[in-house]
Amino acid sequence: MDDFYDPAAVEAAAQHYWNEHGTFRAVEDDSREKYYCLCMFPYPSGKLHMGHVRNYTIGDVVSRYQRMQGRNVLQPMGWDAFGLPAENAAMANGVPPAQWTYDNIAYMKKQLKSLGFGIDWERELATCTPEYYRWNQWFFLRMLEKGIAYQKTGTVNWDPVDQTVLANEQVIDGRGWRTGALVEKREIPMYYLKITAYAEELLADLDKLPGWPERVKTMQANWIGKSHGVRFAFPYELDGKPEELWVFTTRVDTIMGVTFCAVAAEHPLAEYAARNNPQLAAFVAECKAGSVIEADMATIEKKGMPTDLFVTHPISGEPVEVWVGNYVLMGYGEGAVMAVPAHDERDFEFAKKYGLEIAQVVEVPGKEYSTDAWQEWYADKANGRCVNSGKYDGLDYEAAVDAIAADLASRNLGEKQVQWRLRDWGISRQRYWGCPIPIIHCDRCGEVPVPDDQLPVVLPEDCVPDGSGNPLNKWPDFLNCACPKCGAAARRETDTMDTFVDSSWYYSRYCSSDNGEAMVDERVKYWMPVDQYIGGIEHAILHLLYSRFWSKVMRDLGLVAFDEPFTKLLTQGMVLNEIFYRHPQGGRREYFNPAAVEIVTDDKGQRTGAVLKADGQPVVSAGIGTMSKSKNNGVDPQSLIEHYGADTARLFMMFAAPPEQTLEWSDAGTEGAFRFLKRLWKLVAAHVEKGSAVALEPVRLDEAQRKLRNQVHATIAKVSDDIGRRFTFNTAIAAVMELINALYKWDDESEQGRAVLQEALETVTLLLSPIVPHIAHANWQALGHRDAVIDQPWPQADPAALQVDTIEMVVQVNGKLRGKIAVAADADAATVEAAALDEPNAQRFRENLTVRKVIVVPQKLVNIVAS
Ligand SMILES: [Zn+2]
Repeated sequence: MDDFYDPAAVEAAAQHYWNEHGTFRAVEDDSREKYYCLCMFPYPSGKLHMGHVRNYTIGDVVSRYQRMQGRNVLQPMGWDAFGLPAENAAMANGVPPAQWTYDNIAYMKKQLKSLGFGIDWERELATCTPEYYRWNQWFFLRMLEKGIAYQKTGTVNWDPVDQTVLANEQVIDGRGWRTGALVEKREIPMYYLKITAYAEELLADLDKLPGWPERVKTMQANWIGKSHGVRFAFPYELDGKPEELWVFTTRVDTIMGVTFCAVAAEHPLAEYAARNNPQLAAFVAECKAGSVIEADMATIEKKGMPTDLFVTHPISGEPVEVWVGNYVLMGYGEGAVMAVPAHDERDFEFAKKYGLEIAQVVEVPGKEYSTDAWQEWYADKANGRCVNSGKYDGLDYEAAVDAIAADLASRNLGEKQVQWRLRDWGISRQRYWGCPIPIIHCDRCGEVPVPDDQLPVVLPEDCVPDGSGNPLNKWPDFLNCACPKCGAAARRETDTMDTFVDSSWYYSRYCSSDNGEAMVDERVKYWMPVDQYIGGIEHAILHLLYSRFWSKVMRDLGLVAFDEPFTKLLTQGMVLNEIFYRHPQGGRREYFNPAAVEIVTDDKGQRTGAVLKADGQPVVSAGIGTMSKSKNNGVDPQSLIEHYGADTARLFMMFAAPPEQTLEWSDAGTEGAFRFLKRLWKLVAAHVEKGSAVALEPVRLDEAQRKLRNQVHATIAKVSDDIGRRFTFNTAIAAVMELINALYKWDDESEQGRAVLQEALETVTLLLSPIVPHIAHANWQALGHRDAVIDQPWPQADPAALQVDTIEMVVQVNGKLRGKIAVAADADAATVEAAALDEPNAQRFRENLTVRKVIVVPQKLVNIVAS
């Protein structure tokens, strides 16, 4: 063994061995316990970034550890390959999105392989291939048959210059990203999936997921948003006809505090009032042009305008003025809300702005109400009592809700209702690079589903979008077809599916990705659900919710048997790095990659500033932030791998922080990881150079040897707990590093001294093998093994070795030597006595005898007197 650590050679050899032996090919085996470890699949953006490296390293360490526990491990990989960036790249470079995507996949796959991940590449899939997306289409048709998929009108962002629909991320400050034109809202027919039909189960089943982070479950529960309240109406007359304005509220106990109502710009009442009111019409138009993104609603400046229309309060009979509010969304609830400024913060803000009445109707004992400023207790449900509310005065929240709901019901103006925040999932996208929706438009027959035997509807791969709408609309070969029902000339649907569809079931497809005849087959029963799912917190809501929903629909259609797809979930933290920039006068901020910047320090090594290496001139340090293109603070994994090797990258990632916390990039940290591996390599080389060690004989060890062996086994126990239970790989690595420091000082050249060192080095190799598998592969062979470390079981701590100072004591029966026991040096007499009575040989010699007395001679012997 060369004592020079050459990562390139070491890593190539290990990867060659795994390839040759098909080491990571996962085969179903009912006799073995399976372990399905999955990382969220990447978007093929071009090359891996550090976030990928961290994500997949964590997954690989978990997979390899589980393999060493004896489990049959599946770790697949694929590509979330449809989506907008490919279209943007196509426009920028004039290359079809397909070609760009497949080139990126090829490059990133090479990168993943160079990192030594134990992936079963035979199961690889890419969502942009017809072999995959045909099952999106097939399943969509099944959902259409069941009424889970349906068509209705939806609102989209419309760019009037490009005459195209924009994705939310293409709307910047209300304008189209390419044209700068003010974006309009448009109503167009789209396909929706009825996720709301599963709202109750999606919420309830969160309780079946003890292996998920609490905060993810909370985010999902909030998104589903179940609320108990009352739906009721304000009656009014319009052109002499009786009408009702319906609202929903969770605070009907405050109904006597209603001072106005607010409706969305699209509400019929707003449209009616705007007809003869140009000012209001302008405001309504302004609201309609605004964002359709719900998240924006919380932060926009609240604006409103009166309609001069009045409705009647359903209890008091008083007139209530109707306003149009930009914060009321037509798609949510009734498109109208009751406003109680005294007890709702948003209404309070609105009323103060427009000088509307604020009427207190709830009090909390000991608190004084003032309209000067909003206070938290104004919305307190738990401690409030009705006041200024007539017959409801003195009632608490529950009692008031019951009484008011009953009164509304008796007038046929309302009832208690459960409401959900969750909306149905609109999957139609007016984009090219996605899975075609399998529908054909026929003038005679309407919307006709594509028959199963005509699937897949193949997306042409040679289109180059130019930004002016979906190029499929200009692609006659795709567009023109025959109606499956009547045979007449018909037109194919050009909308494609939301890419969240692709990622909603890929984990099940990995189980049978080679099956061209079915979406999934019986192998899904063996592998699913995923035992450990790993990915970014940014997917905590939509991707995970859609996946849970899709799985439940697959279950209800008899395709799978599980309720929840992911048993355990780990959301890894972001990778951070320093940010540097210059801000020239009158120019834009220019960011510099930290690799191009040199830190300036004073005599004492204290940091005083930073300069650009290229010109020696200062740059501004903007602290630490997530690695991103816009801040130019990414580190290219490729250069790291080429410089230090994959094992150093993996070790740094796992050592720098626990997986769920953010990881701060550090050049010194990677240097340190590399130095550690070099040290480990040298240690093994120096040991094996002296020839093979004899077999370890624990009883022959001296005190120092026993002590070192104790540390070895204590390290096994700690690392097993850190990795297996706590997922704190960083502390596991720290424990191994400590052990290696001890081994470095070990200079016992005796036979048993070398045997102890051999065991220690083998242990270190096994414990580190999930994290740095290449160097472990080489070291294991160097230590004299013919089989590969990848096939070794996880080491077990020897309880005897864990006992710090054990002494051997003789066990006598009636004065005759009958056995030996090992006990802790400081064991008390009772423990020693019990151990002696347990000694099997001594037991045999007092069969049928009664123990009369046990004599303990400390540190020496135990004599059992029996007759
Ligand atoms: Zn037809």
